[in-house]
Amino acid sequence: MKVLTYPHPILKYRCKPIQKINKELRDIAAEMFEAMYSDEGVGLAANQVGLPLQMFVMNSTGDSEKKEEERVFINPVILKKKGKTTDDEGCLSFPGIRADVLRSEYVDIEGIDLNGEVQRFQWSGFPAKIVQHETDHLNGIGFIERLTETAILNIKEELEELQVNFEGDCNLGFIPPVEELFRQIKEIEDRFC
Ligand code: ZN
Repeated sequence: MKVLTYPHPILKYRCKPIQKINKELRDIAAEMFEAMYSDEGVGLAANQVGLPLQMFVMNSTGDSEKKEEERVFINPVILKKKGKTTDDEGCLSFPGIRADVLRSEYVDIEGIDLNGEVQRFQWSGFPAKIVQHETDHLNGIGFIERLTETAILNIKEELEELQVNFEGDCNLGFIPPVEELFRQIKEIEDRFC
């Protein structure tokens, strides 16, 4: 499992709600944690690894030894947001890029866990930012879409470099053509949604 980078089209895809929570989905979540830790992340959304499903994993400590801090959210909904805070953010799908993002300070989030149980958390600070960043991903929104125009200008060159790398990967056949990508997406949706 590999983290896909900007401007891969699946990062713009609105993920579909999951209906089937089974062993296969639990295995996918475990692989997502592995991919997240190996890239030194604290959160990862399913579409970042090519899966069009409403699921993200997180561990706000980023420490793979701290299993008790791991959370999986299936079909997450942010029920309430409060306050405003601006902080430096990065994203595994935008390697090498960091920028200030305006977020809510507090979130009330509900989702289903891998046992099919409803879980609800009221968080502020870092976990609240992760939750907002990851639910954005599931709605096809990358963190650069939350930046001011000035902030975008500051990272223009880095974005262009990612674009060039992506085109190179497409030309080398590392990324399948769009029709093939959407065929794969449809097949996954048929299994879980
Ligand atoms: Zn991200």
